[in-house]
Amino acid sequence: MIKQETINEILNTSRIEEVVGDFVRLTKRGVNYIGLCPFHDEKTPSFTVSPAKGICKCFGCGVGGDSIGFIMKHENYSYVEALRYLAKKYNIEIQETQLSSEEIQLLNEREALLLLTTFASDYFAENLHKHEEGIAIGLSYLKERGFTENSIKKFHLGYAVRQRDAFLTYATTKGYTIDNLEKSGLIIVRQQENNISRFDRFTERVIFPIHNFSGKVIGFGGRTLSTLNKNIAKYINSPESAIYHKSDILYGIFQAKRAIQKADKCYLVEGYTDVISLYQAGIENVVSSSGTSLTQGQIRQITRLTNNITVLYDGDSAGIQAAIRAVGMLLKENLNIRIVILPPSEDPDSFVRKRDLQEIQDFFAENEKDFIHFKIDVLSKEAGNDPIKKAEFVKQIATDIASIPDIIKVSFFVKQCSTLLGIPEPVLYQSVNKIRLATYRKEKLEQTKENTDINLLPADTEKFKLTSNSLEPLSISEVEKHILFLLLNYGEQIIEILDDTTCVPIRVDQFIFNDLDKDGIEFETLLYQKFLTIYAETAEKYSSDIIPQLKQNLDQEMFELFVTLVDIKPSPSPLWESSRIKSFINTIDNNKTKLHNEILNSLQVLRLLKLRAIKNTYLNETRKANEEDSLLILKKLNDITKIICDIEKDLGVSYR
Ligand SMILES: [Zn+2]
Repeated sequence: MIKQETINEILNTSRIEEVVGDFVRLTKRGVNYIGLCPFHDEKTPSFTVSPAKGICKCFGCGVGGDSIGFIMKHENYSYVEALRYLAKKYNIEIQETQLSSEEIQLLNEREALLLLTTFASDYFAENLHKHEEGIAIGLSYLKERGFTENSIKKFHLGYAVRQRDAFLTYATTKGYTIDNLEKSGLIIVRQQENNISRFDRFTERVIFPIHNFSGKVIGFGGRTLSTLNKNIAKYINSPESAIYHKSDILYGIFQAKRAIQKADKCYLVEGYTDVISLYQAGIENVVSSSGTSLTQGQIRQITRLTNNITVLYDGDSAGIQAAIRAVGMLLKENLNIRIVILPPSEDPDSFVRKRDLQEIQDFFAENEKDFIHFKIDVLSKEAGNDPIKKAEFVKQIATDIASIPDIIKVSFFVKQCSTLLGIPEPVLYQSVNKIRLATYRKEKLEQTKENTDINLLPADTEKFKLTSNSLEPLSISEVEKHILFLLLNYGEQIIEILDDTTCVPIRVDQFIFNDLDKDGIEFETLLYQKFLTIYAETAEKYSSDIIPQLKQNLDQEMFELFVTLVDIKPSPSPLWESSRIKSFINTIDNNKTKLHNEILNSLQVLRLLKLRAIKNTYLNETRKANEEDSLLILKKLNDITKIICDIEKDLGVSYR
């Protein structure tokens, strides 16, 4: 492990413009540098480097970070690898704490298991290339399948030999404990009466190491090459452990992440070999879910890189059914999904092997269908002229559309489908609305019913706005992000507020927290709320210099948010403009009054949006409530409307 002093030295020595400058041609522009973004294709430079802030950021695609972050992204390095790179560049000697076998035991379980899986992965790879059996059986199998030396290295493929305790013996002589070997699932333990036997999980198999998002080996898949026993499973995987969670696995994500980001698209296939074959054919933005439908955890990893997913499926009917299932899941996540069905009797692996890159790309481009077209195709074939089946299938399509959170997309799909199906748009809209309403009520019922006080803001009111004046220019999450922006960039500045008749100085972050606390407001966007909490915790511990402390406690997702928040040249979002709310963001500089106004406005706008969302729910509730309830609701509506009017007056706007 690298010592903290070394890390500090690296951080203090490296200069962002030099680090980026090794990869991007930079031109000086005022206090900053500017160049062509290495993370997306562009002709006019929008990649900005700020030596003063020590960060870089692309105003085209939003990618950015500090020196370490830039190297991690650009070179696909882990945090430690990026540190090593920078240390080398600046001739900094790396001080490491050497691990003794006692220390290995002391490391917490996760870290110990990660060390072990990395060790095992190297061992399997070495077998493949150096062990007699590995070369004769494993390597020759992979070569036969057409995998190049380059792909074998890239995916770090390996081989587990036939001898049933080969790995067990080797690992224990290297100081790894039986306990951890068992926990990692690499060793299986059988107990019969007083007899305990232990043996390797993977034997006589080609090994596919499974990397997580940041490139650590967390588990293995093994394909059998045994010809003797026909009863054993073709593929086996590591069991669940502290580091391996099957439902979060996206095979190939580490190797593909940069390509996904650059192409702004991710291909999804089913098997390990599909991934490698496509990668080898030149389609590098490909991952496998190793199953039929995607989980939230897998989707989260993809959406960090792109919102565009193209699912490749076999041309048989099982493949098509699987595609329909996967799509339902993806729609709820607001992703743009396309589907390519391969020719009958082909899987991605066999398909790419017979074609060159151009042919593959042409086929994908010609056969890519968005989900609506795809589903209408499949279902209308099944329904034929049967009116009952047809009605059922229109309902299915409506259900799919209703599950899309983004209402702009909903209206787009409604329009498209009404043309494709020959159904009048209002009719389709009505059935979509009905389903959304029903789902909404169901969710609402499942929640505890006590949250009707206006101070307690129900978290899901924002997503149900289809029936009312829904196209607000500003969304709640937009405003929440803006407040975080102010917190991060101005948190430690002092503004003056009027307390009765005297001016009282108060720090911006304190002011924001007080104001949110007053009405018990929490951010609805989970990531933003998490960030807010971490900021508050850091501010409590360190009274000044909060940002450098904060930075050290962020995971990658939060760090990416951090980078988008530390803006080099803030500019008012056009959304504020179209909401007719004045934003001072680009002219604050050192003007405390403007800063104060900007903060007040933002907090009030958030309050306003939340109240209006609640008002909409109440309005909907009155429609279905009995008389007694509806009187109660009307009273609440009246109260809310009064507060809304006050805030609107305060902001100098009116939305009726
Ligand atoms: Zn860019």
